[in-house]
This record gives sequence, C-alpha cells and structure tokens, in this order.
Amino acid sequence: MGDNLKIISNIFRKGNLNDLCFTFFKGNLLIKKKDDNITIPIFDDIKKLNIKYENEFFIGTIDKKSCFAVEAVGEVDLLGDFEIIPLYEFGSFVKEELFLAAGRATQILNWDKTHRFCGKCGSKTENKNDEIAKVCPNCNNVMYPVICPAIIVAVINGDKILLAHNKGFKNNKYSLIAGFVEAGEDLESAVKREVFEEVGIKIKNINYYTSSPWSFPNSLMIGFTAEYESGEIKVDGEEILHADWFTKDNFPNIPDKFTLARKIIDSFTDKQLEI
Ligand SMILES: [Zn+2]
Repeated sequence: MGDNLKIISNIFRKGNLNDLCFTFFKGNLLIKKKDDNITIPIFDDIKKLNIKYENEFFIGTIDKKSCFAVEAVGEVDLLGDFEIIPLYEFGSFVKEELFLAAGRATQILNWDKTHRFCGKCGSKTENKNDEIAKVCPNCNNVMYPVICPAIIVAVINGDKILLAHNKGFKNNKYSLIAGFVEAGEDLESAVKREVFEEVGIKIKNINYYTSSPWSFPNSLMIGFTAEYESGEIKVDGEEILHADWFTKDNFPNIPDKFTLARKIIDSFTDKQLEI
C-alpha cells in the first residue's frame, strides 16, 4: 500500500524539479511515454519543454511524491517521448492513483478558470492562501471547487442486471443507469427517480456500494445496487435509447475497467451481488 493519492488541501508549496506536474492543454493531459510505460512529467521536463503556465496548484501526494496541477498557456512543440492525450484515454493506460490525481488536477484547473470573478458582485477574485478556495476582496464571498454528485445504480433481477444504451455512448456501449442528484434531493430518492424516468421501472432494497470521482468535468459518482420491484422496461427515448436485462454470459459492450460502472458490473459478475 502507500501509493494511493493522498489529498492535501491546506498546505501550499511550490513545485521542485522532481515533483510530478499534471499539465493540461485545453483539458488534455501531457504524458511521458517510453515504450509502453506512461508516466506523468516532472517539473524538470516542463522546464525543458519550455511550457509556460500561470498558477501551480499543489494537489496532494502519491507515495510521498508531491503532485501539482498546471494549465499550460499557449502552444508547445513536443519533443521525443511526450504526448498530449484526452484524460479518458489516460484512465485506460495507468494505475488508478495516477488517473485519480489527474482527475483532481483537471477539476481544480477547471474551477480556477471558471471562478476568476465573483459570482455575487463581479469583482476579480483572489486565491486564498490557506486552502483551495477563492475569495472576493470586495464582498468576501468564498468559492470552493464545485463538485456535482451523481448516482449510478446496478438494478438486479435474479441473475440478470439492467444495462442501458445512452444516446451519448460510443461503440454501442451499455452501462448502468446514472444521473445527477437534484437540488434538495437525497441519494436514495435520486436513484429511484432516475431509474423510473429513464426506464420506467420501480426498484427496492437500495444499498450503497462505493463511490468514485468522475472528472468529466466535476462529478462525484455514488454507486448503488438495487433490486427490481415492478414494471416493464420502457426507455425515455431521449437520453436512453435502449435498455434490457442481461446475464453475465450475454453482456453487450460495457464500460472500461477504470470506471465505477464497470467495477459494479464486475462485482455482479464475480459474486452475483448479494442483495
Ligand atoms: Zn464579490
């Protein structure tokens, strides 16, 4: 153990040449690739590549190695082993802690970009120096990184699991039912509502499974399992184009290994979830 991302939100420091630097170019991540080994560049690489940036945010440590997030300004001529790839692709290639750190980095940078001005009075904001937050010098409004909770649920019916094809999914992919939690709503109600809205069935025995950040762009996915209660599948036709019950022997194309959806599906496959 010891190589998880350890989030630190109240210590401010500058990066040293050997610290990891999660560098984003308009939402895409700079990586270092040697043979099939993908790593995150260190500040020394950033310096050698002559990459310019305004702010650096200390986001935590992995195995005691400090991690920083920076948003590059302008273009760069990439030399040798460096590439810029979409964050989602990065998730398929690397250990989970690196993907989670890159996700945290992109969330902080996105928040930085979208909170330059106070939402209350329009003044220019400043970074607070004791936590990751922005403060308005005019009206003292404090703005933290925005995190949007979303639920995702495996609905089980005997030896079958409900999988749905969302119109936004590529390659005819099928996944679990998911959706954002509404203002003023508790998680269990969100689970029931999303399932009913998207596929028209009622569920029972909702149980928390686990959660995972989903940085596309700033969600926290909260995973559940539930049991089918009643009703026939009837998709909404807007968001969900097709849904059906699948046994583990006839799965369609399902999400990649690093997603929470896949972890819940794999758990169903491995143990036929006890619910
Ligand atoms: Zn203000």
